[in-house]
Amino acid sequence: MQPPLTPPRTGSRPDASFCLPETVRAPGTARQLLESVLADWLICSKCADSAQLLVSELVTNAVMHGCGPVQLSVTREWSSGEPCSLRIAVTDASPEPARRRQTASSDERGRGLAIVDMLADRWGQDVLGAGKRIWFEVGRFCH
Ligand SMILES: [Zn+2]
Repeated sequence: MQPPLTPPRTGSRPDASFCLPETVRAPGTARQLLESVLADWLICSKCADSAQLLVSELVTNAVMHGCGPVQLSVTREWSSGEPCSLRIAVTDASPEPARRRQTASSDERGRGLAIVDMLADRWGQDVLGAGKRIWFEVGRFCH
């Protein structure tokens, strides 16, 4: 199954963005950075836990199958003056779209996107000029 392709977003800048080391430590670094941003924003622990789990899956994929540099960005989506959901994106420099692999569930390689599909409110990927961005949203109607 191919993730849905979405047109690139333009004209909106993330509230926070980080460049991650392209190493096995990147997923842990991403989780910590996200944890402190979401704590600053007073995001509930349920949404923060989902966001941290999903971000570490996506960063793991980017480090293992993409190519660096890997960038993490976090944006609050607003509705009627209130933040209504979190949009988190992981960008890497490989233009090859991420695929959810149709193989045995023991295959680690396809696991990340299956979890994103399960826990995210919405998700997709943007093919960029030099790379790709996989994004997901959590916390819709929670905040
Ligand atoms: Zn929440």
